[in-house]
Amino acid sequence: MATVSDYFGCLVFDDRVMKANLSADVYQSLRKTIDHGAKLDLSVANVVAAAMKDWAVAYGATHYTHWFQPLTGITAEKHDSFISPAPDGGVIMDFSGKELIKGEPDASSFPSGGLRATFEARGYTAWDPTSYAFIKGKTLCIPTAFCSYGGEALDKKTPLLRSMEALNRQAMRILKLFGNSDVKCVRTSVGPEQEYFLIPKELYEKRKDLIYTGRTLFGAKAPKGQEMDDHYFGVIKPRVAAYMADLNEELWKLGILAKTEHNEVAPAQHELAPIYTTTNVATDHNQLTMEIMQKVAGKHGLVCLLHEKPFAGVNGSGKHNNWSLATDTGVNLLSPGETPYENAQFLLFLCAVIKAVDDYQDLLRLSVATAGNDHRLGANEAPPAVVSIFLGDELSAILSAIENDQPYEGTRKTTMKLGVDVLPRFARDTTDRNRTSPFAFTGNKFEFRMLGSSNSIACANMMLNAAVAESLRIYADRLENAEDFETALHEMIKKTIKDHKRILFNGNGYDDAWIREAVEVRGLSNYPTTPDCMPHLLDEKNVRMLTSHKVFSQAELESRCEIMLENYCKTVIIEANTMVDMARKQILPAVEGYAAELAGTIAAKRAVSPEISCGYESGLLRKLSVLTDQIAVQTDDLEAAVLELAGCADTIRESEAIRDNVLGKMASLRAVADEAETQTAEAYWPFPTYGELLYGVR
Ligand code: ADP
Ligand code: MG
Repeated sequence: MATVSDYFGCLVFDDRVMKANLSADVYQSLRKTIDHGAKLDLSVANVVAAAMKDWAVAYGATHYTHWFQPLTGITAEKHDSFISPAPDGGVIMDFSGKELIKGEPDASSFPSGGLRATFEARGYTAWDPTSYAFIKGKTLCIPTAFCSYGGEALDKKTPLLRSMEALNRQAMRILKLFGNSDVKCVRTSVGPEQEYFLIPKELYEKRKDLIYTGRTLFGAKAPKGQEMDDHYFGVIKPRVAAYMADLNEELWKLGILAKTEHNEVAPAQHELAPIYTTTNVATDHNQLTMEIMQKVAGKHGLVCLLHEKPFAGVNGSGKHNNWSLATDTGVNLLSPGETPYENAQFLLFLCAVIKAVDDYQDLLRLSVATAGNDHRLGANEAPPAVVSIFLGDELSAILSAIENDQPYEGTRKTTMKLGVDVLPRFARDTTDRNRTSPFAFTGNKFEFRMLGSSNSIACANMMLNAAVAESLRIYADRLENAEDFETALHEMIKKTIKDHKRILFNGNGYDDAWIREAVEVRGLSNYPTTPDCMPHLLDEKNVRMLTSHKVFSQAELESRCEIMLENYCKTVIIEANTMVDMARKQILPAVEGYAAELAGTIAAKRAVSPEISCGYESGLLRKLSVLTDQIAVQTDDLEAAVLELAGCADTIRESEAIRDNVLGKMASLRAVADEAETQTAEAYWPFPTYGELLYGVR
């Protein structure tokens, strides 16, 4: 039997394959392009393309595609076959350097938020050589960026790559000041932990809400939910274990470092975590992972739900974005070092993150904002919509000692003079316990926990990278001109702690008292919904920062704000329409059917003897009639609220109207329909219940 190391990465055109299939010269120039962004000669590109094609064809590939990540949030691909007519009437398999480097999908149907109207009708895709090409099915997939002809980004990869470059630029300035002359570049790495639900396919297919919206819009609570805490880390059922084994194999073939898997808090909920890697590769891998998760589920008669909140009253799914900064020489800049100098450098990078998260709370919040994730944030299962940082007691005490020029009473008594003292090593265990913090330091990395399970991690990381780049820029500007480096450094770290300690919070993020303190005492921002936060993308300070680091242009930001809000509106409108449809065509007829049976029973009993009381039947019949009346009224109400949206002047107004008028009506309709479910005989209920969905995989 083949072992994992035999087949790991077998579907990837990775370094091993490049070395084996390219001449030394070609390999060297390609490496230069991958590592340092050097432009690839067309003649070299031709050779690379041919080698890629030969390799892919040997694996049975017939097509290639420029694989990209438009603003729909999922990946897109248009397949072209390699075939080219030969003079003898046959075909040869052909793939040129030009086709590798640039593609021109007819992309007019992708969202552009007005960008294409202003600039250019078509977009083009450009090869990202830093993310290896791979084979999916019979297609060679080439990871690409997607831009308009005016150069405006129409995807999530382009700004992510720009943000990595911005961070690299500023971090290098800092490292130079600390005398690290051997470092050539700084990269961010990410390990995203992915949560998901698995439910039986045959049940999924009976629910229009799951099919159209990815989440249940109706459903009374099952008698048993997650209250026993017996699912978290519980024994994995054989059917799920078989799924996970298959999934791992598929991911490993694609060179994805799937590492950890376990059951999550809710019944039917699970998690997969890979080993971390460079951010843009991690992003591509996470998109692929989500796709493969769904594909493999189908083979097992299951459906993988990636929605943030598939079931009301049961924990939703998130994605933890473990993030750190490392040099090409292998030094993790968020890891406390061994020498006083390394420690000072660590503290500076730590402070850069603290400052970034405080200054750009709104950007981090909005980077994870979707209609789906709005159901989680602040619902006592995921971090609140208020952003704060958890550092743990020990590191907090160290920062406070620095701020106040006081001795640090830790493992040993020391005065924290930067560049002189060695920081105590904080035990990892003491820093990883707070699960309620949106942004937690976990020993040598930060874990940003607000992402929703279906979010592309690109959005959160581009904002995080850009914000940290901005802190580092400010630091570098100051330090490069300082007369005495060490004093300036010490003062700057002190000042950062003083100015930004309001963002530090080690307590329980789920506590209502914290939200009050955060907002009223500390002045942190609290944006519970997408319409609340998204318009802040265009706040002057945010536009200034993001454009100054060339992560976005003003026009790109405007288009993104528009697209994200549009996305929010469309999502909720589809949900509302699905509810109206299910209520009218399924729920009302079902309840009426049961009521008719009850009425029939009453009539039949009375025919036997007018004295039979029929108290149970008539009581229930009355209850059901009240409920059906209410369902009918609420359905009409919801429908009217959706129709009214057509009158909104713009997307911002529309999203606000949805937040203020539509969501509440959806909740009201659901409440009466769920109540009707609890009163209706099982045989009449028109679709699978929560109990069946959550406990259906055996
Ligand atoms: P836990 O969150 O359960 O404590 P780990 O800390 O082992 O688990 O890892 C969680 C995720 O963080 C994994 O995906 C892991 O690869 C990733 N990770 C670990 N170190 C780093 C790092 N330096 N940078 C980015 N991600 C990291
Ligand atoms: Mg974790």
